[in-house]
Amino acid sequence: MRATVFHGTRDVRVEEVPDATLREPTDVVVRVTHACICGSDLWPYRGELLIYGETGRTGHEFMGVVEDVGAEVRTLKKGDRVIAPFAFSDGVCEYCSGGLHTSCVQGGYWGAQNDGGQGEAVRVPWADGTLVKLPGEVDLTDSRLAAAVATLTDVMCTGHHAAVSAGVGPGATAVVVGDGAVGLCGVLAAKRLGAERIIVMGRHEDRLAVARTFGATDEVRERGAEAIARVQELTGGGAPHVLECVGTGQATETAIGVCRAGGTVGHVGVPAEPISLMDVYGRNIALRGGVAPARAYQPALLADVLAGVIDPSPVLDVTVGLDGVPGGYAAMDERRAIKVLVEL
Ligand SMILES: [Zn+2]
Repeated sequence: MRATVFHGTRDVRVEEVPDATLREPTDVVVRVTHACICGSDLWPYRGELLIYGETGRTGHEFMGVVEDVGAEVRTLKKGDRVIAPFAFSDGVCEYCSGGLHTSCVQGGYWGAQNDGGQGEAVRVPWADGTLVKLPGEVDLTDSRLAAAVATLTDVMCTGHHAAVSAGVGPGATAVVVGDGAVGLCGVLAAKRLGAERIIVMGRHEDRLAVARTFGATDEVRERGAEAIARVQELTGGGAPHVLECVGTGQATETAIGVCRAGGTVGHVGVPAEPISLMDVYGRNIALRGGVAPARAYQPALLADVLAGVIDPSPVLDVTVGLDGVPGGYAAMDERRAIKVLVEL
């Protein structure tokens, strides 16, 4: 089969790899119909955090059709269409039972030595605990709907995790740091949870336009101390709910700086740089969040996507085929795309 393999900085290639096959009786094999390229895929692509090892399979966002089923799989059969969260999990351990599938004692992540999502097929361990089945009547030939559903593999769940971790509820004032795909989904998630005022911090006009359609009420284009002062001014001393959706040191410091004393920062960006906790300490700011347990959120968010309550599809503004994946990485790296959908 063909799949994307990481070879080094700005070097990903689509090449022949061994077929995805069953290994354990709890596995299934999924033929991938749609995958995405993630902002966090750009870390290794830029030669920073090597989440796929020195060289390994890439991609952790995919959905498709079950093609082969292990003998101990109970809830899935050949032909079922499924979405995968960006980590696999057994669904039964204490962490999975508590909704924290990303800490599953038998879980793990796609890519590197495991099959990656940016390929023709994936061996899925612990399939019953990992995959979410799509209702039979869902028409994925509708490319807008397919894109909306594809965001549930990661970014929409991650944006939602930021909003939940920041404690956003009805009538809330929330600030979203970052106008990438996760930040934009954070705006949509805050809106879905009933936030009344949503201040988005970013400076890319095309992305801020999407943020407005997702429910953003204010935009702050400044950066650093200027941005913090602007938000303090807009909110009369800071916002009680802040979504940090980037992960850089500056973004995290900005998130803390715009937070109201006693407020909460929900952070979901991969924390690439260390930060000081002095301000967190001094103003009793709660830091909550982390890697999003997408599997816990998928059923409810899927229902709302299918019911048309939310439509995150505009974050996927470029579509490529499998051979277009290397070009897709370059487009995201150079900010010519917010996020890339791969149609197989
Ligand atoms: Zn588990």
